[in-house]
Amino acid sequence: QQEKLPKPDWLRIKLTTGGNYAEIKDMMRSKTLHSVCEEARCPNIYECWANRTATFMILGDICTRACRFCAVKTGLPTELDLQEPERVAEAAEQMGLQHCVVTSVARDDLKDGGALIFAETIKAIRRRMPFCRVEVLIPDFMANWDALQVVMDAKPDILNHNIETVERMSDRVRAKAKYRRSLELLAQAKQMNPKIPTKSSIMLGVGEEWDEILQAMDDLRAVDVNILTLGQYLQPSSKHLSVKRYVHPDEFALLKEEGMKRGFRHVESGPLVRSSYHAHEQTDAALAA
Ligand code: SF4
Ligand code: SF4
Repeated sequence: QQEKLPKPDWLRIKLTTGGNYAEIKDMMRSKTLHSVCEEARCPNIYECWANRTATFMILGDICTRACRFCAVKTGLPTELDLQEPERVAEAAEQMGLQHCVVTSVARDDLKDGGALIFAETIKAIRRRMPFCRVEVLIPDFMANWDALQVVMDAKPDILNHNIETVERMSDRVRAKAKYRRSLELLAQAKQMNPKIPTKSSIMLGVGEEWDEILQAMDDLRAVDVNILTLGQYLQPSSKHLSVKRYVHPDEFALLKEEGMKRGFRHVESGPLVRSSYHAHEQTDAALAA
C-alpha cells in the first residue's frame, strides 16, 4: 500500500455553491437524470454548474465495467429507459446550454452497447435546440463498428472517446477496455465521417513516463484525433488506484506545446482539466483552427 501523497497547492479548489448549482441539482433529480459531474465526483462541479455546463450520463448509473480510477457504481444494469433522450433534451433546454456533453456508463450487457440511445439523445437535443452543439463521449462498444455507425449517423458535433492512459498502463488502469481498440474506434469514426472532429483524453499521475505520453499523443495523431485533453488523476476513494505523482502546472503547459506541435487543433491541459472542462471553448478553438 503506497503512502498517500499530500495534495499540492495548485489543486486547492474554491468551493462556491449556491445559485445555479442547487437549481441544476434539483432539476437532475426531478427528471431522474444522472450527470458525470456528480457520479465521477468531478472537482469542477461548482464552476461548471454555475456556468450552466454539465455532462449528462445516460443509460443509467450502473456500469458493467470497473475501471480502477473511476467512482461510478459497478454491477449489472437492468434499466433501459427509452424516454431518457427526451428528458436529457428537456434538461439541456431548461439549462439553456450551448454545448451539451453526453456520455454513458459502459453497457456491455446490451447488443449495441447503448448506441441507439446515444443517437436518439443527439436527435432529441437537435429537435429542441438546433444551435446547441452536441458532444458525445462514447464507450468502445466492444469494437462493434455497426453500433459506432449508428452514433455517427446521428452526426454529433464532436466524437469523443478517451484512451485514458498510456499503452503500458492501460490494462492496469481500465477494465476490459484495450488501448489499441480505442485507437481503432477513433480511426473508424474518422473514416465514417472525416468532417466530425474527434477528441480524446489522457489522465496523468498514474505512473506513466514523459516519453510514453508523447507516444500516446503520436498514436492519437496517427488516427487524426483533433482535440486532446490532459488532466491530473485524483483518487476518488482509498479503494481506487493511488496517485503516483502530482504533475506540476508547468509540465502541463509543456505538454500542451508538445501536443500543438504534433498537430492537434486544440489541447486543453492542466491539473483540473477533465474531458468536458471548458468543452465549449475547446470546440470553438478546434473549429477555428
Ligand atoms: Fe461536469 Fe465536465 Fe465540468 Fe466535470 S468538467 S463538472 S464532468 S462538465
Ligand atoms: Fe467508469 Fe470505466 Fe465504467 Fe467508464 S467504463 S463509467 S470509466 S468504470
